[in-house]
Order: sequence, then structure tokens, then C-alpha cells
Amino acid sequence: MTEHYPHLFEPLDLGFVRLRNRVLMGSMHTGLEDRRRDFEKLAVYFAERARGEVGLMVTGGIAPNRTGWLAPFAGKLSRGGEVARHQLVTRAVHDEGGRICMQMLHAGRYAYHPLSVAPSAVKAPINPFRPRALSQRGIDSQIQAFVRSACLAREAGYDGVEIMGSEGYLINQFLAPRTNRRNDAWGGDMDGRMRFALEVVRRTRAAVGHDFILIFRLSMLDLVEQGNTWEEVVTLGKALEGAGVNLINTGIGWHEARVPTIQTSVPRAAFAWVTGRMKQELQIPLIATNRINMPDMAERILAQGQADMVSMARPLLADPDWVRKAREGRWREINTCIACNQACLDHVFQQRRASCLVNPRACYETELNYLPTREPKRVAVVGAGPAGLACATVLAERGHEVSLFDAANEIGGQFNMAKRVPGKEEFAETLRYFQARLRATGVDVQLSHRVTAAELQREDYDAFVLATGVTPRKPEIPGLHHPKVLSYAEVLTAGVRPGKRVAVIGAGGIGFDVCEYLVHEEQQSPSRDLQRWQREWGVDPEYSDRGALRQPEPEPSPRQVYLLQRSTGKPGAGLGKTTGWIHRATLRAKGVEMLAEVRYERIDDAGLHIRVREEARLLEVDHVIVCAGQEPLRELLEPLQADWRPVYLIGGAERADELDAKRAIDQGTRLAASL
Ligand code: FAD
Ligand code: NAP
Ligand code: SF4
Repeated sequence: MTEHYPHLFEPLDLGFVRLRNRVLMGSMHTGLEDRRRDFEKLAVYFAERARGEVGLMVTGGIAPNRTGWLAPFAGKLSRGGEVARHQLVTRAVHDEGGRICMQMLHAGRYAYHPLSVAPSAVKAPINPFRPRALSQRGIDSQIQAFVRSACLAREAGYDGVEIMGSEGYLINQFLAPRTNRRNDAWGGDMDGRMRFALEVVRRTRAAVGHDFILIFRLSMLDLVEQGNTWEEVVTLGKALEGAGVNLINTGIGWHEARVPTIQTSVPRAAFAWVTGRMKQELQIPLIATNRINMPDMAERILAQGQADMVSMARPLLADPDWVRKAREGRWREINTCIACNQACLDHVFQQRRASCLVNPRACYETELNYLPTREPKRVAVVGAGPAGLACATVLAERGHEVSLFDAANEIGGQFNMAKRVPGKEEFAETLRYFQARLRATGVDVQLSHRVTAAELQREDYDAFVLATGVTPRKPEIPGLHHPKVLSYAEVLTAGVRPGKRVAVIGAGGIGFDVCEYLVHEEQQSPSRDLQRWQREWGVDPEYSDRGALRQPEPEPSPRQVYLLQRSTGKPGAGLGKTTGWIHRATLRAKGVEMLAEVRYERIDDAGLHIRVREEARLLEVDHVIVCAGQEPLRELLEPLQADWRPVYLIGGAERADELDAKRAIDQGTRLAASL
């Protein structure tokens, strides 16, 4: 126990094993599980989090056989020859005093390959492959595969396994009438539909013995039509308890659900209530999940008796020392996961190694290190946006003497606009973290100071880093100087209030964010109010129907908004794979008219004159907000290059195309690690 967060740091005794605290690192696919050659990196990645004092960790999903692969050649444990690579992971974790379970995940109809199987041949809406319905014999061999994989996991040194029974994967597919259309002993009523899950658990328990952790990830809330009812979920929970699982983890939402479950606009701990409801029904320890990212929230869930453990996955990518910092009461130093998905889930969907926007070392622990410098230098970093902040703090951590300048009176650059967008409040946490890092590393910060090249040259710096960011692009549209025209910065930072009818030029990330701002009442973000958010997305806290869904009731937009782009294709095509659909759905629900193939003719007192394909249209708007991309701001480059000292460009100052904070922080960090 510690004085800070006493519930979070109370050990959990499972009878044969005692966990040092109540933090579970939830399963997360990193891409490192898929290839034998990457297991050394995976071992270092987990060892670092064990050193950071996580109570219990779960690996990314490992298939029990080839049909269960998420994608061809994904991680699998079905043969003795695959044990040795897993031993690298378990040894590294145990050497650091940690504990780790392997997640057994059978993708079922979510398998992205032609070998996929399922209880019934019902294709998933998010997968082109139609699964083959399993025969009686096929079902038995799938159960055998789970059992064998669990035995091999034990041989590999894991402390247990987590059986993935949620998020719409194979076991969940057996459970729900949505995907189980069988009328034999494995389908029909709940007794039949849960038989597969229970057989996997019973036979696994019988094979691995009683001193091996069995976690079952139970879909407490399917969030799809024809999902399970609350009564069915409770029935299964009780049966699992009787079948010998040690811990039940919460699963929320199938991957095909129309409700966001982990993205930044989802309120913190938005689903802890359902675990709390299950606590009334079961005796064994339960784990709450989803959008828990800071210790005060984790502590509250435990103190209120909603769960016995909290699961965090992405927050431990973002900060491997999360638990230790919480224990020591240093929450301000936690590098908080902002739930953007940009470097973790979006990478996984692109078959790239996962990392983290706010922590580029995540999954690169063997390749990116901040070693103390042998030649300390004096470095001036100009610009305290994400690129400059990352660069300055890593340089100072390595022992360089760093001065950081910004023209604004606060650090953060464009993140100060991002954090004002409804649903992006988490972005403020990154700035709080950097504030703490600047203090801890002793960077000399000079705000409200627009530096000039002459001023920099007068000082005896050894190097200059230009992280001066961007300026908004001004497209050549007649009437651009009309008083109706506003920049996104005027709206998001200068507090200019647009009228009731607004056109937004440019449907990139910033155009979408500006629309989010316009369609919500001033500072009334539903991300801060769970009940409003549930109404907007149609989540039923009463759980009166299957899947806990009800009709969404979006609040009306206070404005009529048009979002425009010149190119063809769906607006927001460049947004993240795992988040773009949420932005589009929100704007559609708020009645935003999204137009592609637009030509801008002029802006005048009447409004914005456009052509959509060849048809002329007048948008009678009060304001036109320009979000037409950005250009690098590097006015200091040329004069500084005349100097003999090295000048480095990072972030938007280096390149504004395809700029985002992921690139800015990564570039700043890597430069600082190399100087
Ligand atoms: P900036 O953040 O632009 O910082 C540059 C800094 O340099 C500024 O603070 C400026 O004052 C300072 N400066 C310039 N010249 C001088 C000088 N001569 N002297 C002193 N200081 C100077 N990215 C994402 O990845 N995900 C998102 O969800 C996301 N959402 C966004 C939402 C909005 C509304 C906006 C506007 C941006 C968003 N971005 C997002 C983009 C992201 O914020 C930028 O990519 C990132 O801030 C770029 O970082 P930077 O450090 O290169 O530049
Ligand atoms: P952007 O994504 O490049 O979008 C700019 C938009 O303006 C495009 O839709 C483009 O579409 C249009 N445009 C470009 N030149 C134009 C011109 N001359 N006249 C009229 N329209 C023009 O840039 P952004 O929205 O400014 O965002 C900046 C960066 O921040 C982005 O790279 C983005 O990744 C990042 N960001 C990310 C998020 C996120 O959620 N991940 C959110 C906000 C910002 P057409 O050419 O089709 O008109
Ligand atoms: Fe969290 Fe974004 Fe990092 Fe993923 S990339 S772990 S969502 S901060």
C-alpha cells in the first residue's frame, strides 16, 4: 500500500500468486509478436514495463492455430518449436520482478485470410473473407488448439493465459445470436451458445492445473445488434466463475460496432459502470477497462468498488513508468496517453510496428535511447510546439544545456488549439507532461519572446534547432480579405465567435476539428459528460435490449455548417483509419453538409460562391473559415545558415505536408538523441 492511491497499490492475492498492485497492462498488438526475429525487441519492451512496476501484463493476441490468425503469419503458439521465442519474453519479465500472461486470440470471422472459420458462415461487415462454418469435429479441434496453446504457454514460462472472449472474435461469435445461427448443441439458446467458451475454459483448466492464472475477457457490452442481453452476460459470468477462471476482464464493443470505445472523445472510464454492475453478481476479481489513463481515475474505480483491477494498454505504451510514478505520487510526470490511436492502432492496421505519438521509444526500446552525452553543448531550440518540446527535453536529459524560446506566452504551439476542440481535451495532458519535463531537466524556457537570428547569433550557442512550425496557407480565392473570412487560429485561440451559418474551406484534420468546434455549444464537450455522450452515441446504460444499444439522440448543432474540399472522394479520407469514421459520423449526425469536388469562385457580402462539379451554388454564410493546409515557417533559417554553427530544422518548420504531432515529436526526439 502507498499513501497515494491506496486501492491501486493494494496487492491482489489470487491464492497461488500475489500481484503487487491492481494494474493490468491490457493486451495490445504491437507487430513485434508476429516475427521470430522481433521477440528480442518484444522482450525488452515488456521488461521495461515490468521494471516500471506493472502488476500483471498480457501479451498481444497470439493465435492457437493458423485458422485463428488475425492475418497471414500473425503471432501463433501451436507447436513446441515456437516456445523458445516466448521464453525470451517471460525470462526478461521475471528477471525484472514482473508477471505476464499470454493472450490466446482466435480471430474467427475477423481473420483476414481465406482459412477463416466461425460458428456460422456469416461474413463480418469489416472483412471481405467469408468464414467457413465449423463442423462438430472442427469445433473440437479448435478447442484442442486452445488447450494445446495454453499448455505451450505454460511451458514457455508464462504466469497464465488470457482467453479472448470479447471484441467480436471467435468465442464472442459463438456467444451472440448475431453470428451463431446453429441449431445443434453449440448454438440455439444461451446454454448452447456459451458451451464453446465453457469447454475452452474447463479443458484448459484441466490441462494446465490450478496454479496457472486464467483470465477470461468477457464481452460485457457487445454494442452491436443481436449481441447478448445483460442476463445472458451474467449467466456466462457465473458459469465462468464455476469453471475455474481466476480473473474476468471486461470487453467492450465488437470491432464492427458503430459506437467508439477507446478514441480520445470517449469520456474517461466510460464503461467502468458495466464492470461495476457485474461486481454485484460475481465473487471473483473483475477488471475494468477502456479510457482509464490517469491514477486518480483508476483509484476512484477501485475505491468505489466498480472493479478489483484496472486494465490499461495504451497508457503503458505512452509511459512505461506509469505505475512507479503513480506510486511515488509523481502523477504530473506521467506521459499520458491521449487516445489518438495515431501511432499504435493506426500503425497496426497498416501492418506497421506500433509505437506511440507521445513516446516514440515505445516498441523501439532497443533502437532509440537517450544516452548521456560525452560532449555537452549549448543548444538554442526555437519554438515550443511538440517538436521543440520533445527535442529540448531529450537534449537536456542527455546533459546538454538548452534554451527554449517561444513567441507565445505558453508552451505547446498548435496543441493549444487542438486541446480546445471538443473531444480533444486530453491534448492538454501532453503539455502538462512537457511542463513537468522542462522543469525536471532544467531547460531554460523563455516565453513571450519572438527571437531573431541576430539575437541568437550574439550568444555562444553551439547549435540551433528551428522548431518554428507553420503558418496557415492562404489560398488564392477572390474576396479572401472580406471580413467574413476567418483563420482557424482566430476561431480556436483568439476567441472570435463565428455566426450561425459557416463554411469551412478544407476537409483535412484541422477542417474536421474546426467543424467539431462549431457543431458543439461553447465549451460543451460531451466527452466531459458521460450521460450526454451515451445519448449521442446510443449506448443504453439500462441495458434494456441486446447489445445495450438504443437510438442515438445527437444534440442539434448550434450552427449550420458546410465542410468543403476540392478533391474527389470522401471528405476526411486522410484521417486515421481508427478515428476518421468517428469524425465523419459525428459531423453527419450534426447535419454538416460535406461537399467534394468544389471550386471556390469568390467570397462577398452574399456569402461563398462555389461550383460543385459544374453546378454554381451560393452558400449564404456569415463566416468562411480557412483550413487549407499550412506552409513551413522558417524565416530564421537563411540568416542562421550564414553562421558557421549547425542549424537543424524539425517538425512543421522542416516540412508542412503530412505534418502531424507524431512526426513532429518523433523528429524532435530522434534529433536530440543523436546530437
Ligand atoms: P507548432 O506546434 O506550430 O509550434 C511552433 C512554435 O514555434 C509555435 O509555438 C510558435 O509560437 C513558435 N515560434 C515560431 N517562430 C518563432 C520565433 N521566431 N521565436 C519564438 N517562437 C517562435 N496533430 C496530430 O498529430 N493529431 C491531432 O489530432 C492534431 N490535431 C490538431 C488540431 C488542431 C486544431 C491543430 C491546429 C493542429 C492539430 N494537429 C494534430 C497538428 C499538430 O498540432 C502539429 O503537427 C504540431 O503542433 C506541429 O508541431 P511543431 O512543433 O512543428 O510546430
Ligand atoms: P491538410 O490535412 O493538409 O488539409 C488541408 C485541406 O485543405 C485539404 O482538405 C485540402 O483539400 C485543402 N487545401 C489545400 N490547399 C488548398 C488551397 N490552395 N485552396 C483550398 N483548399 C486547399 O492540413 P490541415 O487540415 O491544415 O492539418 C495539418 C496537419 O495537422 C495535418 O497534416 C494533419 O495530419 C494534422 N492534424 C491531424 C489531426 C488528426 O486527427 N489526426 C487533426 C488535425 C490536424 P483539397 O485540396 O481537396 O481542397
Ligand atoms: Fe495513446 Fe496515441 Fe500513444 Fe496510441 S499513439 S498509445 S493512443 S498517445
